[in-house]
Amino acid sequence: MRLLVVEDERRIADFLSRGLQGAGYAVDIAPTGTAALDCVHSADYDLVILDLMLPDMDGMQVLEKIRNRQIGPPVLILSARGGLDDRVKGLEQGADDYLVKPFAFVEMLARVRALLRRGQPAPEKLQVADLSLDCIRRKVARAGEAIDLAPKEFGILEYMMRNKGRPLSRTMIVEHVWDMDYDGLTNIVDVYIRHLRGKIDDRFPVKLIQTVRGIGYMIEGPDKAAERHPEPAAEHQV
Ligand code: CA
Repeated sequence: MRLLVVEDERRIADFLSRGLQGAGYAVDIAPTGTAALDCVHSADYDLVILDLMLPDMDGMQVLEKIRNRQIGPPVLILSARGGLDDRVKGLEQGADDYLVKPFAFVEMLARVRALLRRGQPAPEKLQVADLSLDCIRRKVARAGEAIDLAPKEFGILEYMMRNKGRPLSRTMIVEHVWDMDYDGLTNIVDVYIRHLRGKIDDRFPVKLIQTVRGIGYMIEGPDKAAERHPEPAAEHQV
């Protein structure tokens, strides 16, 4: 899940970004309306958090431009302007929710999660064989046994489980789980996959995380793997 925070006040932007990253989201920051529109045009965001008071344009203009695109991400407006008129105007112009500053971080996180759920018809609970992941409560269990994951590990696992059976490259994983300005090597993915395997696969006879040679990684239940390689003899028939 990738979020864009549009906020010119560095202190607030950093605070939001740190909190959201701690909750397992990848976060980019745009300090101006122009930067925000550049970001929205060049990357796919699951949600935009938009401050209305920006140095170069009014947040409402940014909202309007995002909404002019046919399919835009949901937008949560942050504003010091708490008047009913502003709120109504924001929602009328296509914002999905409106939060008045100052607000508690937990309040914002609850709104963010609600909007992401709404924008995403995807199930809140993901299952691969006996591994289950609850996206809302952020809990993971295998064979009924709870497993503790660090936020990035959770992010990777959620992304893989949402795409089960589909090989994912290291770049795709990095782009979904880390921030845009992450300039490290994609080798970091290998390190995290090793941690994940240690937690969800090593103690179990059936391994769910597969290495896909030349591409990256994939998660898949044992039944699906068997379907793709039915009988070894079949490979020799033409
Ligand atoms: Ca501002």
